Amino acid sequence: MKFLVDRMCGRLARWLRLIGFDTEYIDESKTVPEIVYKSLREQRIILTRNRKMSLTKGYSVYFVQSENFVEQVKEVIKKFDIKLEKERFFSRCIECNGTLEEIDKNLIRDKVPSFVWQTKEKFYKCKKCNKIYWQGSHLELAGEILSQLEEK
Ligand SMILES: [Zn+2]
Repeated sequence: MKFLVDRMCGRLARWLRLIGFDTEYIDESKTVPEIVYKSLREQRIILTRNRKMSLTKGYSVYFVQSENFVEQVKEVIKKFDIKLEKERFFSRCIECNGTLEEIDKNLIRDKVPSFVWQTKEKFYKCKKCNKIYWQGSHLELAGEILSQLEEK
């Protein structure tokens, strides 16, 4: 399952990436037919808070009801019957949707704060934008939200 999400649901998009889904933003400079074409070509489900867009028929689009992003995440998980698979978590960059790979900590010594380098063992690098992640950066926040999701 892949998604195309509008900017009004930016935090939702980051969360979908975090739980391992290929999620791109809708390019607001494009026309609706162009956006639809992209969603069909790449088989992406459009998630939007734009009512007009959500009423266009003939393609896969879902109008996100909630304005609160934790609720939005819950809503999408329920709607598409998404199973949270922990092994898929943190496989994508939340900033750019690139895929992450584990990286030898010795290669990034000068790229992360020294206390982080000294105290963490596992580091990941985005193949697309080179952003570096480590256990305890967005991963802890993720754990918090995931526990909120599990408490339904
Ligand atoms: Zn990235």
